[in-house]
Amino acid sequence: MIRVTAVQPESIAEELGLAVGTELLAVNGRLLEDFLDWEFLTADEEFLLHVRQPDGEEIEFEIERPLGEPMGVGLEPARIRRCANRCDFCFVDGLPDGLRDVLYIRDDDYRLSFRYGNFATLTNLKPKDVQRIIEYRLSPLYVSVHATDPTVRRYLLRNPTAPEILPQLREFADHGIEFHTQVVMSPGVNDGAVLEQTLRELYDFGPAILGCSVVPVGLTEFSKHHLVREPTMDECRAAIELVEARAGVALRERGVHWAFGADELYVRAGLALPPAEIYDGFEQVENGVGSVRWLQRQIEAGADGLQRWFGRTIGVVTGTAMAQLMPMVLEPLTAATGARFELIPVVNSLFGASVTTAGLLPGTALQRALVARRDLDLALLPGEAVNDDGLFMDDMSLELLAAAVPMELRLSKDFVDALHEPVAA
Ligand code: SF4
Repeated sequence: MIRVTAVQPESIAEELGLAVGTELLAVNGRLLEDFLDWEFLTADEEFLLHVRQPDGEEIEFEIERPLGEPMGVGLEPARIRRCANRCDFCFVDGLPDGLRDVLYIRDDDYRLSFRYGNFATLTNLKPKDVQRIIEYRLSPLYVSVHATDPTVRRYLLRNPTAPEILPQLREFADHGIEFHTQVVMSPGVNDGAVLEQTLRELYDFGPAILGCSVVPVGLTEFSKHHLVREPTMDECRAAIELVEARAGVALRERGVHWAFGADELYVRAGLALPPAEIYDGFEQVENGVGSVRWLQRQIEAGADGLQRWFGRTIGVVTGTAMAQLMPMVLEPLTAATGARFELIPVVNSLFGASVTTAGLLPGTALQRALVARRDLDLALLPGEAVNDDGLFMDDMSLELLAAAVPMELRLSKDFVDALHEPVAA
């Protein structure tokens, strides 16, 4: 059963009399469990929909609609699938106490992998899930492989019953499912020869694996430092050598780069970022793979009309990780706008200075950085730092922050999105 949380005006759902609180029970006699069932089972032009209205009345509708016309209902969020692993580097273990409950959930959900590109390990799949992935053809999936060697992978995941990943992927690939994969690199465990083997075996798996990124393990002050550490500069350089060697083979044989190092891997290695061309379609940009090159492309593509910012002073708030790379982005932005940009790197006061990602910055740290900055016309904040409810990691709201600082604030994903909004008078 899925509960309706919103009904769009003048939609099919409104016409049928569906309301907030209506329970969607079955389509063509098949029980509905979550948004996947809803989307896939209602994809036809005609179907039978069985609902229970908020007053308890059960109704079966015969739906006929033009293909592609949405039903017009909002659905309650699916219950997140919990993770079956206990990785030493798990971000959840690295959280301080006192944050909102939802942040402590270890999610590992193939549905969110398909829908949003969240990485999943596939270690918690039940036979029914396997069947659904195949039947609904959930492709591509984003899979955390970490190591193809089953013993190393089980060690990394701290899950002695984790199924072997290659046969698991093979079963799906035989049904047309494709994958983006990642290796979170934990030095001394899955780097070196293990990483070489992992990249080789994933590549040799065949074209169903669309690519593999290598991301250095990231820890907070609260992580299990006695069990896991961050890689050194030399270890990152060694990993990049393996990635680039594999990308060279892939380019020669398949015409794609296939293997990628996260931007963070290059920063830690003290090496320049590779050019935009090596990221194929920027498929793992949300994973920090090619983010800077992607931003540069976005700015180049969206530069028209930004001259309205000429002469303004704009603060760009970011985490300390991107601060080193941001000049590469601010330069074309300055050229496109004629504005003066100032980089404002903010240290994460909630998780500790070692957490350098912009998306995890707490509202209170941003407030401290901006409260006395009367010289700024505008401050751009990382869009990913707030959730759908407009809350930062420390539960401060964007609204509250905006009221506490003297300049206009805008959330931004690629700068261009925020700068295309009209300039405030
Ligand atoms: S797979 Fe590992 S890192 Fe991801 S949520 Fe589970 S325990 Fe945490």
